Amino acid sequence: MSVNSNAEHGSVNSPTDSSFDVIIVGAGFSGLRSLHSLRNAGLSVKIIEASDEVGGVWNHNRYPGARCDVESYDYSFGFSDELQQQWRWSERYAQQPEILRYANHVCDRFQLRSDILFDCRMLGADFNEDRASWTVATDSLGQLQCRHLILAVGQLSKIKTPTIPGAASFAGEIHHSGAYPREPLDFAGKRVGIIGTGSSGVQMTPVIARQAEHLSVFQRTANYSIPACHAEISDADDALVKATYDERREQARNSPSGLGFMPNRRSALDDSPEVREQIFETAWNRLGFGFALAYYDILLNIESNNTAVEFVNRKIAEKVDDPELCKKLTPHGFPFGAMRPAVDHGYYQAFNRSNVELVDIKQAPIEAITETGITTSNGEYPLDIIIYATGFDVFTGSILAPLIRGRNGLSLEQKWSQGPRNYLGIGTHDFPNLFVMVGPGSPSLLSNVIVSIEDHAQFICSLITSADSLGKQTIEVNLDAENDWVEHVNERAQETLYPLAPSYYMGNEVAGKPKVFMPYSGGVRGYRRILENVRNSDWKGFDIS
Ligand code: NAP
Repeated sequence: MSVNSNAEHGSVNSPTDSSFDVIIVGAGFSGLRSLHSLRNAGLSVKIIEASDEVGGVWNHNRYPGARCDVESYDYSFGFSDELQQQWRWSERYAQQPEILRYANHVCDRFQLRSDILFDCRMLGADFNEDRASWTVATDSLGQLQCRHLILAVGQLSKIKTPTIPGAASFAGEIHHSGAYPREPLDFAGKRVGIIGTGSSGVQMTPVIARQAEHLSVFQRTANYSIPACHAEISDADDALVKATYDERREQARNSPSGLGFMPNRRSALDDSPEVREQIFETAWNRLGFGFALAYYDILLNIESNNTAVEFVNRKIAEKVDDPELCKKLTPHGFPFGAMRPAVDHGYYQAFNRSNVELVDIKQAPIEAITETGITTSNGEYPLDIIIYATGFDVFTGSILAPLIRGRNGLSLEQKWSQGPRNYLGIGTHDFPNLFVMVGPGSPSLLSNVIVSIEDHAQFICSLITSADSLGKQTIEVNLDAENDWVEHVNERAQETLYPLAPSYYMGNEVAGKPKVFMPYSGGVRGYRRILENVRNSDWKGFDIS
């Protein structure tokens, strides 16, 4: 295998061969991690990446205030002790530029860049039955061939842009949080409108509020947000984590969500209101996402959940001065945590500023964008900059964007027309030698995704190398195993409160999308045990031939 590795950032890396053991689509964290494993296993591997930069979501979501909701030490790779000992995180929740620097550092440290084909978008892929291989069509490098194809395309990659009449006539700038310009915008003296109050809108609101002349936040659905309890990392903290990093990793891997928080074994209903208040208070003041594990049944039992709702609503009320405004900012109609909560750095308090207003577009919907601003049924809001923080076509958007055809020309879109059907979230029947990283049917966005990425990268690498060592050419999910897994994913979801919210977990973010619960809610520890069992039972559920 020879490649022309003119691998500087921003240059296209043209292969002189076009046939590889494995092609990975996407140079985000899951693509980089997979490349590292597979290449170390002796396979010829290329990543194709549509951008000229690595990092995936952390490359594209450069909006002000973008930072990780998972603590930096946990949102990082554990496969190399040298890497984790040498990299120095500066903050408990790293900001986007620092995470992007980390992705680049990993890339350089393990010489991954030379095997990344930048500025190359996958348009489609066809499985060739005779050769048991995939032909991958790209926009810049023609057709590439591979024995195995790994989709590491991310769950939050296909941005969702609202179709608002008149948007093209707007005289100012419009940007999407998920495709944010590389050069920071200057908000000084500007009237800014943010549409959307999910994690992205919640993160950018306090930052833009401090810079802009005026900020209008257009909210359709209020969501819950937990304070981040952010802090800089001192040298002493850093040394402490690094001295016990292995234990920390182990704890994360064995916690339900990969975040390291072990749920309180008690039900919220077991404690008196006074004790419960104390437990909630402690969790609220330190744990970020871990607040949802203050009791094990907050996401399982609606009465327990109601106690959390009551607590969180009181916290919101303490932060927002105006009671009418507070009412609008307070979520209702779904359990706490059933839509992915945001983790914030002063979101609610931002609305106490005189230059910030909340526009309730559920009550008075947006009618149009004009040359000068946004018009709702309540009137016009003059603006210079509009930011769509309107989210993504989550889980399946980026997987189904290219035309992927398996056996007998069956497209993945056809196969998944009633919702994703797969085994372990990793492979799908009729699409041999095709693997998905951290997609639907796996813990994915219900987990610290880096933990899930490491699990998938190791599993898929072992599966491919095992088949190779047996001289086998195709790895295909068995249909019965797939049907059982889909049923299992549904059953686990039905044990939780997640299906009670109109969330992207249920496909509610895109009109017409099948309404099925997509991630695996059985937790990363249970899921890893399942992966281990499959591996230890000669890859039960996969037909290797
Ligand atoms: P999101 O959670 O899907 O939120 C989108 C927001 O836009 C919602 O408030 C939605 O309202 C609103 N919206 C969508 N279409 C609209 C329309 N046509 N008109 C008006 N409002 C509209 O998207 P996100 O905030 O980008 O976050 C997505 C996910 O990315 C997060 O849940 C999280 O997993 C991840 N994320 C992580 C971090 C981090 O780790 N720090 C940061 C940002 C994002 P409705 O609810 O009414 O649809």
